[in-house]
Amino acid sequence: MSEFDWPKSKAFQQRVENLNLHGLHFQHVELCERRAWMYLHKVNFAQWHSRVATGTAKHETSYQRDHSVRGLFGLAPDRIDWDKHIVYENKGTGGAVEASSNQTAFYAVMLSIATGQAWKAYMHVLTTRRKREVVLDAVRLEKLWSASQRLAALMDQQDVPPAQKIPLCKTCSLALFCGHD
Ligand code: SF4
Repeated sequence: MSEFDWPKSKAFQQRVENLNLHGLHFQHVELCERRAWMYLHKVNFAQWHSRVATGTAKHETSYQRDHSVRGLFGLAPDRIDWDKHIVYENKGTGGAVEASSNQTAFYAVMLSIATGQAWKAYMHVLTTRRKREVVLDAVRLEKLWSASQRLAALMDQQDVPPAQKIPLCKTCSLALFCGHD
């Protein structure tokens, strides 16, 4: 195992803790700023959206979530291999690669910061049963840093950000009341 050495570790961790950021924030900000804003400001009606409810039930029964991580920096990855320092996140499909990669990388970065050891991140695509490593290189770390800055700005912002219709709107749990511009 190699040591985790990222000069922005402390500042990143502080921002995450101050804003109570979770992996999904890092996924949302990559996909749609309005969605990220709604999630940050706790405007989230996913539980009343049947598509999401069905998807969640399917997901929960397909793979057992690792309960040992609850309460740790708001982490909720699907599986953690503590011995090998690997974190896994399950995805239904292989779509939205960058957003899902950022979410998965976020878990690995937070565990790396917490333990001082470099963790690896893998996405597990349920439909194809394939695993794909999300490499925590300088580019990925910078993406997470930028995303955290953007999330901080969105947290301070009072107005709902503008949003264009995008393919994701078709399956977005907020679509019923978003009224994208
Ligand atoms: S419906 Fe579309 S524009 Fe509105 S929050 Fe969802 S993804 Fe963003």
